[in-house]
Amino acid sequence: MSSKITFMPVSYTGWGSLEHLVSEAERLNASNILIVTDPFLVELGMTDKIVEPLKAKGWETSVYTEVVPEPPLAVGEKLVEFTRKHKFDLVIGLGGGSALDLAKLAGVLATHDGNVADYLNLTGSLSLSDKGIPKILIPTTSGTGSEVTNISVLSLETTKDVVTHDYLLPDVAIIDPALTVSLPPKVTAATGIDALTHAVEAYVSVNANPVTDAFALQAIRLISSSIRTAVTDGENKQARTDMSYGSYLAGLSFFNAGVAGVHALAYPLGGQFHVSHGESNAVLLPYVMGYIRQSCEKRMKDIVEAMGFSTAQLSQAQASYKCVEELKRLVTDVNIPLTLKGFEIPEDSLESLADAGIEQKRILARSPMKLERQDILAIYQAAYA
Ligand code: NAD
Repeated sequence: MSSKITFMPVSYTGWGSLEHLVSEAERLNASNILIVTDPFLVELGMTDKIVEPLKAKGWETSVYTEVVPEPPLAVGEKLVEFTRKHKFDLVIGLGGGSALDLAKLAGVLATHDGNVADYLNLTGSLSLSDKGIPKILIPTTSGTGSEVTNISVLSLETTKDVVTHDYLLPDVAIIDPALTVSLPPKVTAATGIDALTHAVEAYVSVNANPVTDAFALQAIRLISSSIRTAVTDGENKQARTDMSYGSYLAGLSFFNAGVAGVHALAYPLGGQFHVSHGESNAVLLPYVMGYIRQSCEKRMKDIVEAMGFSTAQLSQAQASYKCVEELKRLVTDVNIPLTLKGFEIPEDSLESLADAGIEQKRILARSPMKLERQDILAIYQAAYA
């Protein structure tokens, strides 16, 4: 089977890599720059770190701060309207996946007509025709990998949907772990398990290939060895660096191989109950992997080995059970509830969650085990209590 593998954009990684921002903006001929960021990052003074050097070059800068976590469609529509009114020639996204997804959407749709809703994957009817204005993405969480993916996620009433096209890929990504030091433990945990989920789902995806496998396994190694330290000791430079590389590699891996069941079931939790994306993935990860275990035993053995455990004395089936157990332990160790009840999801909502989950056909198609509606309901029920 042939595979298309995309390694975009130009990326700068490692501690202090933010220093490349000005030269990259110059290379992209910027003079009127939109910075899409999260109001909390403005409060933390992080936005100044990028705006000041840009202003010092004499460039116009406009800071847009109406980003909210897990952005609803309406937030995207408003930002796109704002972007179209101005003649920006570069958009910079600074923040977690919420800010980055909005920034790349604004950059592309700046040069298109129609509403954001018209371009959604599940219900939209329009296609993107060009890459819009140049985009630089700077993550401040180690989680989504949005800086290297062609997806922009928006929250709808009952689920989430995406705009997806390679035109959404930025021109430059700057992945500087120093920007993640201020993340509180809860966000470090949730975003870190999100990145781990990307790597695990990409590794068992039907679209996995040796290139995405290499990225996924290295992401699993880095994240599982450092997430506990990053949560308990946020200033630990090595742990933050590992998480940053782990999330970046997981992003490259899942962008090319895709995610599957965990994400398909997590989207309705985010849409209907506003559970953060990272926590939605975390609470479902062990249950989905437990349910599909028999379809990917060998791969789950590889995963638990990448998590640092020897399987020499175990059969393949035993190793796959151990994988599920170690995923549960990891989620528990970083203080994320392991049940839907722990997130106060009412039991009578499981049917409507399953209705929304089965709609995510594009994502479910990458699962190594075909998941029908009754399977999805069974997983939610297992995860409930
Ligand atoms: P987020 O962007 O919603 O941020 C979570 C919280 O962390 C916010 O309150 C924010 O203010 C805070 N924060 C961010 N950086 C900080 C820092 N350095 N210090 C202190 N606080 C900080 O969280 P996220 O998990 O990064 O992004 C979630 C969004 O990304 C969801 O909408 C999800 O669906 C989407 N997503 C996109 C992709 C993709 O490929 N495009 C992949 C996965 C998830």
